Amino acid sequence: MPYAPCPMPYAGSVPDLSEKGYICTCKVHKHATFKTASAIPINVKNRSKSEDLQRMSGDLRSDLIAAAKHFYDRGWMAGTAGNLSARLPDGSFWITASGRQKGQLTASDFIRMSLDGVIVEQPVPDSRPSAETSIHVAVYNCFPDAKACYHVHSIEANLVSRLVAGDAVPLPAIEMLKGLGVWEENPQVAIPLFTNYLEVPKIAKEICEYFAVSSPSVPALLIRDHGITVWADSPAAAYNYVEIVEYIFRYTLAARQLNLDLKC
Ligand SMILES: [Zn+2]
Repeated sequence: MPYAPCPMPYAGSVPDLSEKGYICTCKVHKHATFKTASAIPINVKNRSKSEDLQRMSGDLRSDLIAAAKHFYDRGWMAGTAGNLSARLPDGSFWITASGRQKGQLTASDFIRMSLDGVIVEQPVPDSRPSAETSIHVAVYNCFPDAKACYHVHSIEANLVSRLVAGDAVPLPAIEMLKGLGVWEENPQVAIPLFTNYLEVPKIAKEICEYFAVSSPSVPALLIRDHGITVWADSPAAAYNYVEIVEYIFRYTLAARQLNLDLKC
């Protein structure tokens, strides 16, 4: 069985080795065996399989549509910005299609992808997955328990990312951190900060490399001048994480305006 580079940063352009599979050599997967899925044509059989999955788990797209509408109304998914995904029991995930207005999504505005970044199902044949799908693939591969991954572009996140020169944003030790799973007295935690590249797979690659050697203190990351990405074990939890991180960023900016020492 051949060895191959980790596919996560290269989602959508992985050589198809589905006949034999391959062995990933990255630090995250540690020589785990993968089998690259081939694109499955849309036909009645596939659609029936999808419908069966939906009956088993509920239609996750309804969670994504409701969350996108809320985030759009908050100004965090202005126009077509941001992208949301949720994972089905078979490991594939629904993600928002590229270029869709986030306040008016319908079930046909999503594409189902495999964890190899291959399209599994397209309700609308000429639609394309979000341009930032590789980041979702990276998150799901780094965190196998993640069932939802939400990415939004808020003004506050962009401003906060400019407050620090390093590769992490310290978070203020406020009560709201408990909502991100931090239950410590005077916690010292930070959100990792990644460089924004025009080539999104390059961002995904750096995310993979970072989490291969670092455990996150909170289930979130920030891309400079771009926005946050959170992951969670359910769409409802991911929704809350976005709300909490954005709250903390609003607090951070307000505290700075008041010249408060946050003692991060
Ligand atoms: Zn984005």
